[in-house]
Amino acid sequence: MSCAAGTRRLRIGTPVHQPPREAGAAAFSCAEISSYCRRVLDLLLGNCRLPGGSAPVDLAIAGGRIVGIGPARGPARETVDVGGHLVTPGLVEAHIHLDKALLGDRVSGSAETAADAIRLTAIAKRGFTAADIEARGRRVLDLAVAAGTTAMRAHVEVDPIVHLAGMEAMLALKREYAPAIDLQLCAFAQEGILQAPGTEALLVRALEMGADLVGGCPYNDTDARRHIEIVFALAREFDVDADFHVDFSDEPEHLHVREIARQTMRTGWQGRVAVGHLTELAALPAEEQGTLIGVLAAAGIGVISLPLTDLYLMGRRDERNVRRGLTPIRRLLAAGVPVALASNNVRNPFTPIGTADLAHLTFVTAVAAHMGTPDLVRQLVAAVTTHAARILNLRDYGCAEGSRADLVVWDCDRLDEIVTALPARRLVVKAGRVTVEHERRVIERWRVGGTDG
Ligand SMILES: [Zn+2]
Repeated sequence: MSCAAGTRRLRIGTPVHQPPREAGAAAFSCAEISSYCRRVLDLLLGNCRLPGGSAPVDLAIAGGRIVGIGPARGPARETVDVGGHLVTPGLVEAHIHLDKALLGDRVSGSAETAADAIRLTAIAKRGFTAADIEARGRRVLDLAVAAGTTAMRAHVEVDPIVHLAGMEAMLALKREYAPAIDLQLCAFAQEGILQAPGTEALLVRALEMGADLVGGCPYNDTDARRHIEIVFALAREFDVDADFHVDFSDEPEHLHVREIARQTMRTGWQGRVAVGHLTELAALPAEEQGTLIGVLAAAGIGVISLPLTDLYLMGRRDERNVRRGLTPIRRLLAAGVPVALASNNVRNPFTPIGTADLAHLTFVTAVAAHMGTPDLVRQLVAAVTTHAARILNLRDYGCAEGSRADLVVWDCDRLDEIVTALPARRLVVKAGRVTVEHERRVIERWRVGGTDG
C-alpha cells in the first residue's frame, strides 16, 4: 500500500479523542497516490503489532475496511498510536444463549446433569417476557462488546413455553447493538420439535421474522433422526445455515452427529453446519474416534466446544479421576476441523459462572485440554477468532487489506499472552470506528511513604 519514497509520513501518536481533521488538511508529496489516499480516512491506527508480524505497522481504515497496511498515509478523522501493542481481528462468539443468561437469582436448586439444567431453566422460562429477555441480553452484550467481541451467534429459544418472545427481544437487540457487534440469531428448538408440538411452526415464523439460521437439539427429542431432518428441511427452505446441540453426554450413547454428517452431505450443506458440545466424541476408542473425525472433516462441519458448561456438567457420575468431558479439540484441529471455543451460558443452571469474555475460555482450555505448546496456544486464539469466523461464515474477516475493520488492540505485545495473561482490551474497533476504550489505573499506595518512620 505504500506510496513512493519521499512521501511525508503522517505523524501519529495523537490521543484517541483528537478533534476531526478537515478534509485535505494534510498535504502529500506522493506521486502515486492510491485511491484511499485521496480521501480522509475514518481511522488511522498507528504502530500496530499484527499476529505473525515482526515490525509494527500502521492500519489505514476507511469505509469500514482496512484499506492499507504499512507506513501511514493520509488525513484521518481519528488517529491513534497504539504504541506497538498487539492488534487482532475482533473476537467471535460462536455460541451463546442471551435469552436464558443471568438466571442466578430466579432458579432454585442446582443442576447435576444437562437434563437437570434443561428442566430448571424450562421452569424459569415460564416467567420470561420480551422485556425481561432484552434486559438480561443487554447486560451480556455489554460485557461481550467491552471484551472485544465484534460478532456473535446467539441461540434463541422458540417453543410453546416462550413462543416468539425471545425472537422479538433479540431482533430489537440486534438493531440496537449493530454499531458494536454483528449478531446472528439462530432459531433454536431447545425443548425438542416432535415432543413439543407447535415448535416447527414457530421455527418457520422465527425464520420469517428474520432469524439468520436454524438450530436443533436432537438429544432432547423423541425421534432424533426426524428432528434432524426437520432442521435440514428448514435450512434448505430458507437457505440458511444449521447449528445443532449434539451428543452432550459422558458416554457415546447418542452419536447423532453421524446422522447430521450424513444429512449435511445429502443436502450439499458442507461448510454450513456447526455442532456444539460433542462431548461424546471424546469417549470413543481412538480408532473409532479418528474415523468419525474424518467424517466431520469431509462434511465440512465446524465444532464448537463449550468448555465452561461441559467442564461443569460432564463427569458427574465419576467417583474418582473425574473426566474433563470436553470434545477432543486437539484431534479435531489436527484433522483440519475448525474448532471454536464459545461461552454457551452465562450464570444459569447450565453454567453458574461466566463473563462473556472469550479470552477467559482460552485460558481455561489451555489447561483443561492440555494445550500449552506455542502452536496449540495459537490455535486457542484461532478458536475465538479465525476458526469461529469460519464456522459463522463471516465474510472478509481478518487483518488483511480489504478485511472488515473489526479489531482489538490488546494490552500486550505477543499473541500467546492473550491466553497466558488475559490482557486488557485497550481499544475495540467495529466497522472502522472505535467502540470501546479501556483505561486502567492502579495506584500502589503501599509504595508511597512505605519506608517512612
Ligand atoms: Zn448452547
